[in-house]
Amino acid sequence: MKVPMVDMLAGYPPIKDEIETAVKNVFNKANFILGEEVAGFEKEFAAHNGAKYAVGVANGTDALRMAFLASGIKAGDEVITSPFTFIATSETISQVGAIPVFADIDPVTYNLDPRSAEKKITRKTKAIVPVHLYGMPCDMDAFLALAKKHDLRLIEDTAQAFTGKYKLNGGGWKYLGSIGDCGTYSFFPAKNLGAFGDGGAVTTSDDRILETLKQLRNHGSKVRYHHEMEGFNSRLDTVQAAVLSVRLKHVEKWTELRNTVAAKYAEALKGVCVTPVVPANARHSFNYYTIRFDTKAKRDNAQKYLTEQGIANQIYYPIALHLQEAYARLGGKRGDLPVCEAVQDTVFSLPMFPELTDGQIKTVTDAVKASLTVSVGK
Ligand SMILES: *Cc1c(COP(=O)(O)O)cnc(C)c1O
Repeated sequence: MKVPMVDMLAGYPPIKDEIETAVKNVFNKANFILGEEVAGFEKEFAAHNGAKYAVGVANGTDALRMAFLASGIKAGDEVITSPFTFIATSETISQVGAIPVFADIDPVTYNLDPRSAEKKITRKTKAIVPVHLYGMPCDMDAFLALAKKHDLRLIEDTAQAFTGKYKLNGGGWKYLGSIGDCGTYSFFPAKNLGAFGDGGAVTTSDDRILETLKQLRNHGSKVRYHHEMEGFNSRLDTVQAAVLSVRLKHVEKWTELRNTVAAKYAEALKGVCVTPVVPANARHSFNYYTIRFDTKAKRDNAQKYLTEQGIANQIYYPIALHLQEAYARLGGKRGDLPVCEAVQDTVFSLPMFPELTDGQIKTVTDAVKASLTVSVGK
């Protein structure tokens, strides 16, 4: 049985009518740029997250870049982040003129390790960017304490973790992205809340950051042809906003289903490989389901075996950022961030989407088990 990584169409039929009505509505009004659906979605999205404001933007990469600018990150500043993430997190640090500084990751959550991050703080450090990788919440109590102690901005890359939650020490449950100064989100179709194309958002509860973000996404202007600064063309499309408002109403249910799939995977793979360990003070959003083996040889063999069986799989991410050619100028080399390097060589991700059936789950987990006894050639 073939199993895809994500099934983009599986979730569509149940909400088809709702989506088509919302989209037709936009077509009939032809208010394609910053139409009322954008403001409507921003309000709903902020309310969902418990943030004061949300600003819709063109994609999750622009969300990061504009969050950095609006948070006052400037040329020459250092920004500490994870080496184990998609390059959007770090390329946008460079694009605002700042310097990405990679610290090591935690061996259990695979997220930026606050102790390693603290060791990288210098006089030039301006911000820390925790990335809730795969949907696994970062240790936000530790990052909040670090930010406070060293007067740093805290920007959460929540692209993979919308609907994930974290319970602050002595506080209540918070949605990821609503804990730091800004949260950035991607509505790329394969993310937990996917648009029918590109989209993104930034949330914040800071009025100054909000005003700057609104200007940045629209050429630095509040009033047409009056430009207080230079900005970008990076607005969330009205059509996408209309789609997102519909899908937002269903997303919690989808995350529950993802968590159910994850529990079934974990049960079937007990003792076979390392499965995600979700801390008691966290709700994982399971954008991806990632397993780990004790050796690279076992991981590589499992990957090949699954591929041979028609089961989609992917390594997120095969080359840590400090080892990428794009960052040769930073002088990173093997041995610098040993936990991250060991993890990149031993993990891979299995199919994960809310509609995954028990039969598909069994096919996948049986194949993972079988891969330990069958050696696949090149
Ligand atoms: C997807 C992703 C982004 C970028 O989002 P786009 O909408 O594709 O620009 C940023 N950071 C992480 C961790 C992501 O997974």
